[in-house]
Amino acid sequence: MTAEPLVKKVSKRYHPLGLTMISNRALAEIVAHLGRVAYCDGFVAGLSSAQWAALRYFFRANRFSRTVSAFADFHATTRGTASQTVKSLVSRGYLKRTRSRRDGRSITLDLTDAGLAILAEDPFEALVGAVGHLPAEARIDLATTLDAMMKEVARQRGKRPFGTCDACAYFAADRAEPAQECRCRCRLMEEPISAEEMAQVCVNYVPALGFVGDDAAVGAAERPAQPRLRDDRPDDRSY
Ligand code: SF4
Repeated sequence: MTAEPLVKKVSKRYHPLGLTMISNRALAEIVAHLGRVAYCDGFVAGLSSAQWAALRYFFRANRFSRTVSAFADFHATTRGTASQTVKSLVSRGYLKRTRSRRDGRSITLDLTDAGLAILAEDPFEALVGAVGHLPAEARIDLATTLDAMMKEVARQRGKRPFGTCDACAYFAADRAEPAQECRCRCRLMEEPISAEEMAQVCVNYVPALGFVGDDAAVGAAERPAQPRLRDDRPDDRSY
C-alpha cells in the first residue's frame, strides 16, 4: 500500500473544511504545525523543548538504543547538540549513565525516578490527548500514513528509520507448541525481547518484508551476517 491513497483518504474524511482535495504542501504544513505544537515554545517545568524531546526518547527507546548517538539520529540533530542536552539532564538528575552490560564500554542512559515523574508534566501530553479523541479507524489510518512518511523522509536523508520489534526483520517469536508462551528474541543482538520492549523504538530496526514503506526492507535471505550495529559507535564509549 502506498502513502498517497491513505493521505487522500485521511484528508477527505477529516479535513475541518470538508475539503476532498488538499495540496501536498498544505498537508505537510499541518504535519509541521503539529510538530511545532508538540515541540512547545520556551520552557515548561524548567525544561526546554530539546530536553523534553530527550526525556521522551529515552522513555520510549529500547535498551539497545538508549545512547547519545541513537538519540541524535532519532532527533535529527548533531551528536554534539544531543550530548549537551543529555548532559544537562544527567546533571539535573533526570537521566543516569550506566555502562553497557553487553560490551562494558559504551554508555547507556536511563530515566531516573525523577525523570519518570517529570514526564507527567510533559506539554506533549496535549497532543497525545488530541490523538486519543480520534476514532479508532482514523488513528490506524494516521499511524499508517505517518509511518510511510517517516520512512520516506528517512530514505531521502539516507537514514534508516527507527521502528519496533513486531515489524522488524530481526524479530523472532519461538513457540515450541501453540499453547506455550511465546519466547520473543532479537536475532541481531541474540537476546530475548520482553513484552514491554516490543513497543519500544530501536535504533537497529530493519523493516521486515510486507510492512508499509518497506522498499528497503531486508528479508531473512538478504540479512547481512555481521551487520554494523548503530549503537556500537566509539562516540558512545567516551561519553
Ligand atoms: S528485533 Fe529489530 S527492533 Fe527488535 S531489538 Fe532486534 S533489531 Fe531492534
